[in-house]
Amino acid sequence: MASGKTSGHWSMGLLASMDDPELKVTADEKVVVIKDKYPKAKFHFLILPKEKIPNLNSLKPSHLDLLRHIHKKGEEIAGKANKELKFRFGYHAVPSMSHLHMHVISQDFDSPCLKNKKHWNSFTTSYFVDSSEIIRQLEKKGRVEQDGQRANEMLKQDLRCHVCNKAFTTMPSLKAHIVFHNVTKSAGS
Ligand code: AMP
Ligand code: ZN
Repeated sequence: MASGKTSGHWSMGLLASMDDPELKVTADEKVVVIKDKYPKAKFHFLILPKEKIPNLNSLKPSHLDLLRHIHKKGEEIAGKANKELKFRFGYHAVPSMSHLHMHVISQDFDSPCLKNKKHWNSFTTSYFVDSSEIIRQLEKKGRVEQDGQRANEMLKQDLRCHVCNKAFTTMPSLKAHIVFHNVTKSAGS
């Protein structure tokens, strides 16, 4: 389904990137893995199903196997990228880009593209919903519900370190702080 991407609207950009050799990492019969074009950490990938699924609201119980496959692929990609760093796998409650995509992101958040409070809070508050939580919701309720208004409030929250919860007033001070955290799996952070 990644063909015929003629729409120029920026929110459709992921569809074009699925075929971009600069960004495409790997693919199988069900998914395409790409590098996030504006990575917010040392390692930041997006996993997209080939099936046309616009967003979390479109998910049905018949998608459970696909979601489990996407999660497993995330673990595989993370393990190949870096065995030491801690990663999270999840979805933005209110995504800006069309076509369902799971983020695979290392928890160092060491990237020049991570610039503002919205970026930070979208990966470190409950605006970022773990893949396992999405799967659980779909198993339990047969659908995935997100409170968009509540999620958008998350983006406005004060800046806090995702490891020790210390508060910061500016992104540069927060970014200077987080480099001292050892966000490896063994550190348990
Ligand atoms: P969201 O829709 O909020 O889950 O996030 C979309 C993600 O896609 C962000 O992390 C962006 O950096 C990334 N992104 C935006 N445009 C592109 C693109 N054309 N190709 C690849 N990644 C993109
Ligand atoms: Zn801290």
